[in-house]
Amino acid sequence: MASPHPSELLEDLLRLADRFSQVPESAVRDLPLEELSAAQARALQQLGRLLSSRLGRASAVSGASSGSPELAQELGLAAQRGELRLHYQPQVDLSNGRIVGVESLIRWQHPRLGLVPPSRFIPLAEETGQIVGIGEWALREACVQAQAWCGQGLEGLCVAVNLSARQFSQPDLVQIVAGALRAGDLRPGLLELELTESCVMEDPVAGALQLTAISDLGVRTAIDDFGTGYSSLNHLSRFPIKVLKIDQSFVRGITGDPYDAALVSAINAMAHSLGMKSVAEGVETPEQLALLKGCGCDVAQGYLLARPAPPEALDLRRRYA
Ligand code: C2E
Ligand code: MG
Ligand code: MG
Repeated sequence: MASPHPSELLEDLLRLADRFSQVPESAVRDLPLEELSAAQARALQQLGRLLSSRLGRASAVSGASSGSPELAQELGLAAQRGELRLHYQPQVDLSNGRIVGVESLIRWQHPRLGLVPPSRFIPLAEETGQIVGIGEWALREACVQAQAWCGQGLEGLCVAVNLSARQFSQPDLVQIVAGALRAGDLRPGLLELELTESCVMEDPVAGALQLTAISDLGVRTAIDDFGTGYSSLNHLSRFPIKVLKIDQSFVRGITGDPYDAALVSAINAMAHSLGMKSVAEGVETPEQLALLKGCGCDVAQGYLLARPAPPEALDLRRRYA
């Protein structure tokens, strides 16, 4: 397993805290510490040390938490100051174990807060409209990087870029995408745009027009986090969508919950019968990977295979198709 980036660890920690918050306080307080295994006790000690050394810094900056006007102001300057970065997470073809693409995932290298994950600033950028500029920057940056990989011999490597609802509703989105392709001198077939179900289904008529225009450019579209929104299957089958990305929550449940396993099989079958590819997100264990292969999933992405990382830290060549 690739070594984790601190921002990913922080996200894991937030998820863990979230799960703990669902447990009654008394159950946490009365946890039988004496029954912990040596490994569990060590992990707890390490976590305690890490948290206490970071806590001072975290509380010092918490005034500028997501949603604050200061953060929005700083975000406005982040792109100009060169504080935004794209990390990339490989996507692996399950039929041969080769890397066939990467998803670009934005990060903000904040001078005081360190590496800020997108969950902390993308919703804010959506609210303020800053996402339009940030999204355009990310598209161009990803196209330039994809072309750089082409130049290094990774000629068919596809780069997926996330689009937010606000970006998707921009009337000039197609021109922006075409401009990014030109800026990177990238073949349209090597770019994929990820959209959520809600973003496409909010206005299915306008959505269909936008998807068709993108597809006419030769750029692929994918539905991200599939299964968590409210898709009209009728619309979905008529839209020019090429990829369904199965949400992490189903992948997480696939080994323990027969309902999730059945859903994943059904999503795969549906994707294939509509001529789409399926990508499983958030694959963390070999058991999940084996089951996903068994369910007919085409491509997998997750910490088990590779963590998101800056381009220079990725070793794509070794496992490139
Ligand atoms: P997403 O597009 O669904 O991306 C997948 C998220 O899952 C990423 O979180 C990724 O780091 C994380 N992930 C990957 N493998 C695993 C795994 O095995 N286990 C777990 N627990 N998580 C895994 P990240 O990078 O924090 O991004 C969160 C969301 O922020 C993305 O979800 C996407 O909706 C949004 N986002 C990221 N980059 C951009 C961007 O450039 N533009 C826009 N508009 N949104 C972005
Ligand atoms: Mg995505
Ligand atoms: Mg997703």
